[in-house]
Amino acid sequence: MSGYDVIVVGAGPIGSTAARYAAMHGARTLMVEDHSSIGSPVGCTGLLSTRAVSECDIEPSDDFVLNSVRGAFVHPMNGKILTIDGKKTKAYVVSRKMFDRRLAAMAIDENVELWLNTRATGIETSGRKQKLSVVREGRPEAIEANVIIAADGVRSRIAKMTGLGNVKKILPGIQIEGPYHSDNSDFVELLVGSQAPGFFGWTVPVNDSVSRIGMAVDPEYCTNVFQVLEKLLTRNTHVASRYGGGKLDLVMGGIPLGPLENTCSDGVMVVGDAAGQVKPTSGGGIYTGAVCAKIAGKIAAKAAAEEDCSAGFLLEYDRKWRSEIGKELAMGMRIHNFIGGLGDDELDELIASMNNPTILETITRYGDMDHPSKLIKKMLHPSRSMHMIKVFRAFAKAVL
Ligand SMILES: Cc1cc2nc3c(=O)[nH]c(=O)nc-3n(C[C@H](O)[C@H](O)[C@H](O)COP(=O)(O)OP(=O)(O)OC[C@H]3O[C@@H](n4cnc5c(N)ncnc54)[C@H](O)[C@@H]3O)c2cc1C
Repeated sequence: MSGYDVIVVGAGPIGSTAARYAAMHGARTLMVEDHSSIGSPVGCTGLLSTRAVSECDIEPSDDFVLNSVRGAFVHPMNGKILTIDGKKTKAYVVSRKMFDRRLAAMAIDENVELWLNTRATGIETSGRKQKLSVVREGRPEAIEANVIIAADGVRSRIAKMTGLGNVKKILPGIQIEGPYHSDNSDFVELLVGSQAPGFFGWTVPVNDSVSRIGMAVDPEYCTNVFQVLEKLLTRNTHVASRYGGGKLDLVMGGIPLGPLENTCSDGVMVVGDAAGQVKPTSGGGIYTGAVCAKIAGKIAAKAAAEEDCSAGFLLEYDRKWRSEIGKELAMGMRIHNFIGGLGDDELDELIASMNNPTILETITRYGDMDHPSKLIKKMLHPSRSMHMIKVFRAFAKAVL
């Protein structure tokens, strides 16, 4: 049986980052990936904040960046569009396939061994060495490591098998890529209210004539996301008049909301979507997952070096990632619950009240895709006008 310091299950962006950090900190690291190709199939819109890209230690480049975005047109049900202009590049639209491959290549550069077409099927944890059963290119095999990092996505098999469980709330998401005439390809469009119940819909321009059009919904308010997307594409006057028909790509996936209560046990750590380290306001998981993956990789290497892989030792990972992003995720969850519970009229009213030069200026200055709490705190600062405080009072009551 071959032995490693660290084995990472899943070569998505978060697995590759965790593996790279483990290797950079001296661990002999193996990463196993179920699929035979990195970055495929894709389950993502590929809208990454500039901070998310730099958190992954990459410079934006034409290899994976398809477009840059500086703002959003928010479309409520009453059709009165709110324009939020960040005035400079706030996010990139990326090819997730190329992005994921870049991260995997960076891991390999740090001497991470990568086995494709290898599915983890079982795990036995016992003190210093953990045994992972895999099916590698059709043949069963067992491998050992001091620490196993589960980066195997939203329905993590490893987290489930080790008793850490899976995230309880998963929003179904669906997206197509297709011909779409954007009014301005520097802006995404966000469609809120009952056109995407409980979450939101989007059009994200790849260029002037092609966009990714999709939505995620809250299963509490909507049971058939396919139908709702079809309705958006064909009956929403704004979208239908710009959509050229046909689908170049169809993406489906689940967005986990709310992190696991516990993300480590003896010899095992859970990271990324598997751990629910995703922003509940946007469903984005690359920035938050990368922050946590770096911590996980580093602590896994330390545990292997010190030959202590007990849950008590690995708990440092849990503590550290929660101190980095835990509060932001918790507030994001409260914002999600509050907004999701508003009726169309209330949401129309909230959005209309934001259509005010002072508020828009504050959003431009302090709006942050990765840290929405920064903006909320600015909005509620006593120096702000009574109008702003009034607008956000109910909101603040619910989320702070
Ligand atoms: C519709 C949709 C749109 C999204 N848009 C955005 C966006 O615009 N921006 C953003 O930041 N986030 C977005 N997300 C979220 C983002 O895609 C995830 O947060 C991100 O992919 C998480 O990365 P990960 O590495 O944790 O998991 P994944 O990317 O899911 O990777 C997990 C990997 O583990 C492998 N695996 C699973 N089980 C096993 C096994 N047993 N053995 C071996 N390998 C296994 C899988 O094949 C996969 O390669 C979106 C999600 C959805 C569903």
